[in-house]
Amino acid sequence: MEEPTPTTATTRGPATPRPARKARAATKPPARRKRPADPAKAWVTKLARTRPGLMAWVMEQLDAHYGTPVWARVHDPTSELVLTILTQNTADVNAEHAFDRLRAAYPAAPSDTDVTAATDPSIVTRPGWGGKGWQDAGTPDWQAVEDAPLDELIEVIRPGGLAPQKAPRIQASLRRIREERGDHSLEFLGDMTALEARDWLTSMPGIGRKTASVVLLFSFGLPLMPVDRHIERVALRIGLIPPKTTADDAHEMFLRMLEPDEMYPAHVGLITHGRRICHARNPECDRCPIAPRCRYVDRKAA
Ligand code: SF4
Repeated sequence: MEEPTPTTATTRGPATPRPARKARAATKPPARRKRPADPAKAWVTKLARTRPGLMAWVMEQLDAHYGTPVWARVHDPTSELVLTILTQNTADVNAEHAFDRLRAAYPAAPSDTDVTAATDPSIVTRPGWGGKGWQDAGTPDWQAVEDAPLDELIEVIRPGGLAPQKAPRIQASLRRIREERGDHSLEFLGDMTALEARDWLTSMPGIGRKTASVVLLFSFGLPLMPVDRHIERVALRIGLIPPKTTADDAHEMFLRMLEPDEMYPAHVGLITHGRRICHARNPECDRCPIAPRCRYVDRKAA
């Protein structure tokens, strides 16, 4: 059987003009929400309007529940800086262990200029700290730490975790302090304003706002608010900071929400609350003094 001859264009009649296609409606890209020029200021203004007095109320509850912490220096600022580098991404107890090993490996002769509680043999700790405390045996010999072979220093601080990153960071910080100041002391930062001192510290590689703020708040009582993972979690749940806030923005928001003399009690109170009640998993909301105004409990809490 013959196959049917395929119809070609030439065998068709004249082509009927197709109706003109409708011009596709121009689809607008979804409007991007503009980031405010000063996100911290914008947020704090909004919070004051929508949930007036929230920060002050949270502080009152924390003070009533845990007591008001009173600032006292525990370490000289260089020790505080190194200890804070050691706590990055690890538990405080591991950082303590690494710092003790640093002192044992590179001991310094006790000096009259040490501003630590070196003469007190009792266990030293500070409010909100998650370690076991330490027996204050003075500061390490910072020049010896700076000059130590890198592999050796990594082994000494290994219990602090991430030693291959932290050892060069510690040495670079010590070198930078000595080259700029002639020795390893950071006491001069106490004569600066809080933000000048923070800028000085954060200009060192690997030192962010949190580390700098810890050093300055704990060594000098300068009005800065270190925001660690506990504080960030608690603040997000309550609604003190908005979702997806960056760590740097959170610092600035707290600086705007708190008076200078409230930063230390707020830092210690929120961190203590995160450790004792508002755990990362299974927060104990039923015994939490902040529950009546917490957005984790009630999405519309005032
Ligand atoms: S109510 Fe619950 S989520 Fe809110 S702060 Fe208290 S423990 Fe945390």
